[in-house]
Amino acid sequence: MPVQYLKGVGPARAEKFAKLGVQTAWDLLEYYPRDWAFAPEATRINRLKVGETATVVGLVESTDYQPYRKPAIFEGVLSDDTGICRIMWFHGGYLRGQLQPGQMIMAWGKVGEYRHQLQLTNPKFRVIDIETAGKKKVPDTFFAAAAEYFSGGVYPAGGGISSAQIKKIIRPVLDNLGGLVGEFYDDEFMKETELIGRKDAFGWIHLPPDEGKLGKAKRRLKFDELFLMQLGLALRRHRHSKFASAVAMGYSEEIDRRIRRRFPFLLTEDQDGTIAEIVADMQKSIPMNRLLQGDVGSGKTVVALYATLLAVANRTQVAIMAPTEILANQHFISIERYLRKSDVKRVLITGGLTGKKRDEILGQIKNGQIDIVVGTVALLEKDIEFKKLGLIVIDEQHKFGVHQRAELRKEGTPHCLVMTATPIPRTLAMTVFGDLDVSIIRNSPPGRGAVVTRLVAPEERAKAYEFIRERLRAGKQAYFVYPRITGVEEEGDIKAATDGWRELSKVFGEFKVELLHGRMSSEKKQQVMAEFRKGKIDALVSTVVIEVGVDVSNATIMVVEGADRFGLAQLHQLRGRIGRGADKSFCFLFADKDTENEVAKSRLEMMERSNDGFEIAEHDLKLRGPGELFSTRQHGLPDLKIADIIEDYDLLVMARRCAFELVSADPMLISPLHKNVRQALLIKFGDSLGLADVA
Ligand code: ADP
Ligand code: MG
Repeated sequence: MPVQYLKGVGPARAEKFAKLGVQTAWDLLEYYPRDWAFAPEATRINRLKVGETATVVGLVESTDYQPYRKPAIFEGVLSDDTGICRIMWFHGGYLRGQLQPGQMIMAWGKVGEYRHQLQLTNPKFRVIDIETAGKKKVPDTFFAAAAEYFSGGVYPAGGGISSAQIKKIIRPVLDNLGGLVGEFYDDEFMKETELIGRKDAFGWIHLPPDEGKLGKAKRRLKFDELFLMQLGLALRRHRHSKFASAVAMGYSEEIDRRIRRRFPFLLTEDQDGTIAEIVADMQKSIPMNRLLQGDVGSGKTVVALYATLLAVANRTQVAIMAPTEILANQHFISIERYLRKSDVKRVLITGGLTGKKRDEILGQIKNGQIDIVVGTVALLEKDIEFKKLGLIVIDEQHKFGVHQRAELRKEGTPHCLVMTATPIPRTLAMTVFGDLDVSIIRNSPPGRGAVVTRLVAPEERAKAYEFIRERLRAGKQAYFVYPRITGVEEEGDIKAATDGWRELSKVFGEFKVELLHGRMSSEKKQQVMAEFRKGKIDALVSTVVIEVGVDVSNATIMVVEGADRFGLAQLHQLRGRIGRGADKSFCFLFADKDTENEVAKSRLEMMERSNDGFEIAEHDLKLRGPGELFSTRQHGLPDLKIADIIEDYDLLVMARRCAFELVSADPMLISPLHKNVRQALLIKFGDSLGLADVA
């Protein structure tokens, strides 16, 4: 029902409600208070006790404004048929037009004492609109209603509607919850999980009888919200497994042996483990939808190549995609290294590939002559036709959460493996990525030198430079990363890469210092990168472009300027660029302004303390909250009204288990028992889950 038809709302107010995102009576029910008040039942004045919080109803006998007191006060005397008390407000000048002798008011506040007289200090009040001439006796109806007036929800106001108005409008809706709110669960379940009924929960969240019941209402509504979100994920996954089909890959010891021969090292335990999971997926005709997580350098590419070669062994094609051309190129180079003298046909598609050459290659992809196509994610968008695409590998590095969401519904869905170097906290793994399977590489290949991280104070800069000079002299290489390419006027204190490069070229005059940033041409970038790889460049000054696509084990120094400007995940990522060889590596974080910013400082100290990407990610999530870490729209972060995925983690886990159990028992929610759940899902998600057709 549109809010417009609720009592007290007309077309004009409905428009205001729309600004709050409230269109229907249902939306209004889900427009939860941001705070709650609990005023006690009204008391006669002679029963007031110092120190208690009380609700009283009485007549204003006199008022007085005293602007010269510090602070200025507005005071008065209130009476009923049992006695009198003072009422007083600090900074009360604004009350001059509102409170006058002869008015009857209800007031709620803390009882204190002033010069042996009882006093309500800064009480909340409301003027009662009645003829009071000569009355001292408070009409019973007002006396009874007073507590309720001050109690209940405090709503986020806005768009021209006050909290009090919302409270008034929602009241009759609460008296009639039966028609709006259907129970989701049976009694046994609610008993087991200690959840109260859904109708009570809605009633109490808006008008809680006491704190305890409010707590129970919150818990139930949080659970429901998380449950519906998880149901959405469970249903999406179910649909995917049911309606999409992929090539079921054949697998044998012989294939395994042939693939492993390509790697000049033994795979690590974690690599073997994730490969086993991937192989099990790819043997099924249900398309794999797997996220492979592991720090930079943990050996994901090798795992992805294993999956790639399995698909090729099954005479299907593979598309390997990266977010940038630099990274695509990097993948191609490492694949080339492993596939030397192999018959597997592979190509790199870049923006530079044009004209006849491009047509020729696209033709070969179409007729199946090419096995592996490497490129940027643009491969998905451009209509490159494959003869038989068996597997898609997407390397998202830190820009995860976007591409795998693009559902490939069409017939013959390929298996899909998404790699990310961003450790995803468990809460997000369960929400944003809740419909993906996850494999994790925790331990990197052996033989890696330790990485030491230091936060460098401004006065220690010169010392750090001398330390770096010594390493460069010993033939090691260094990265200097800046938050910006060029300087910005109003933030003159943040150094930009171009300025930094000029300065560092002087400081390290005896070495070759080069600049690299995103606005350089693609050829120039490739060239600089190639020279750095060959060791011809000693120090690379850049923006975060180097986050992706550089793997130089001789580089053992990472300097981050304006480190407080980077997110933890990003810093961890940058640090992953060093420590790739056997030598000890050093990460220096320069943050000139961090002393003022506690959060920034705490983040940087975390970097000093920990090398564990998962630990860092959890910490970051707690510090900054999911909203700031991941833009909701882009990453499909659930839009939650009452639950908090971090604070309510335990409920989230429980809701997830229940939701997945429900979907496996009744995938289309056709049982009459699930009617209400199904209806709530339709309201929440529309028919994107494909439920309506069975309704
Ligand atoms: P990621 O893709 O996770 O960043 P890579 O697969 O590119 O990691 O591996 C990083 C480096 O480690 C590469 O130089 C690779 O050759 C090497 N490497 C990978 N797996 C192993 C292993 N099992 N043993 C030794 N070195 C390995
Ligand atoms: Mg890699």
